[in-house]
Parts: sequence; structure tokens; C-alpha cells
Amino acid sequence: MNRTELNALLDQLALRGNHVIVHASLSSFGHVEGGAVAVCAALIDAVGDGGTVMMPAFTATETWFRPAPGEPRARPVAFHGDLSVSRPVGAIAEVFRRLPGVLRSNHPTHSFAAWGRHAREVLSTQRDNNPFGPLKKINIMRGHVLLLGTSLQTATVIHIAEERFGVPYLSRGTAVRVNAAGYDERVVLENLPGCSAAFVKLDACLEPAKVKSVAMARGSARKIPVRHLVQLAAALLDSDPYAFVCDQPDCASCAGKRAALAAAETRPPHAGQKTAS
Ligand SMILES: [Zn+2]
Repeated sequence: MNRTELNALLDQLALRGNHVIVHASLSSFGHVEGGAVAVCAALIDAVGDGGTVMMPAFTATETWFRPAPGEPRARPVAFHGDLSVSRPVGAIAEVFRRLPGVLRSNHPTHSFAAWGRHAREVLSTQRDNNPFGPLKKINIMRGHVLLLGTSLQTATVIHIAEERFGVPYLSRGTAVRVNAAGYDERVVLENLPGCSAAFVKLDACLEPAKVKSVAMARGSARKIPVRHLVQLAAALLDSDPYAFVCDQPDCASCAGKRAALAAAETRPPHAGQKTAS
């Protein structure tokens, strides 16, 4: 696939002026002349001056490496702005965060990289206790999720619905970040999301009229309004708070979610809150 073909593929998704959160798999494009750099450049061209391209730049620092009982604790990786994106997030995201003009937030585990006039404003909404700030901002800006050969499992905006619904399993953790003075600093993180494997359940709920879909060499490219996805996720959680607990028996994250949900069920409403007297 050359640059002209790449532009033609993205043209079909009508991205001009859009604010997009991109989750991309390089291999789904088949062979691309210029590789991940060409894909990033084509995306930036496609949204144009008024648009925003944002990608996760997540990093597997300490929080993701909770040792199993009896195993030695993994050496913490301190987050800094030039730390490589975790391999599962993908080659395109790793190339994107290093491009000139692309900014990156400094959350130790869930940083985002963004390009465009609104990039700074979008990224500045993130806090150590508000990892989804940039996703919420793109939602307010009526943005879209762009899945390039990836499944809904990668659509991190669905975590917004979990937070809004008040699921009891968003967790607390710590991580190490290099501070402005150059020293490692341990920071407390809140509202950390867990396993997203069960997000694919929302495939059955998507309204075809709201999704733009184009075939790729492998799989498809889909553009979905953030608002639509968040509303569908909230409705699913409303009917079943366990909706985003996956079926994999060895998933530690979902075992933790199940336990938190069960504990919340047995707790009386507003437990721990002071009653007005
Ligand atoms: Zn799971």
C-alpha cells in the first residue's frame, strides 16, 4: 500500500476537521510503504488543521507488574516523557508519540499523545486521579474513535462509561515518575481501568448508521462517535454491572473486578457516609 492508497482509504472515513482517538494495528494495512510513519502522516493530513489526532501512549510501569504471590517484585520503571509505549499498544502509537509537533501527557501508566491545534488543551485535562480526562474532552468535542484494524477491546473511551456508572472496580495504584527536577517520585494513581476484553460485546449493539466502516487488507477501519459508544456502554452496564468482566478464567484483572462487584452488592447503599442529623 502506497501513500496515495493510504490517503484514499482514510478519505472514505471523512476525517476532515474531526477529533479522533486512534487505535491502530500496522499489520492490518498489509505492507505499507514508509511503515508506521506514513500511516501517522496520512492521519494528520486527513484530519487537517482544525482536527485532532490522539493515540494512547500507555506504558507498562510498576502498576502493571503486580507480582504473583511468592514472586519477586519487578523493578519499577520510572515514567518519563520519552519512555517507549508498551508493545501491545502498537508500533503506530510508538512512532506517533515521537513525531515532531506531537505532545504527550505525563500520566505514568496511561499517557496520551496528541497532534493538532487542540492537543495541549485536550492533554491538559489529565490528572493522576483522572486518567480519562483527554477521552472525556474529546467526547465533549464530539470526537470519534477510529479503529484501524483493531477490535472494540482497544476502545479506551468505554472506560468513561465505567467511571460514569460508578463501577466499584476502577482501582488505585502507585507508580514512579521522573519529576521536573530529574528525580524519581512515587505518585498515587486513582481510577485506573482494568481488562477491556469484554468491550467487544458492544459490537452487537452498534447502530450501523452511526458507524463508518471501510475494508482493510486485514479487518476493517471503523469510525464511531465517542458519544454513541459511551451511551451504549452505559446502557449495557445499567442492564448488567458485570458486563465488562471477561470470561477468561485466568484473567486476574477481571477476578478483581468480580470481587469488587460482589463486595459492592453486599454493602448497604451509602455505607460509610455520615447521616445528616
Ligand atoms: Zn479480563
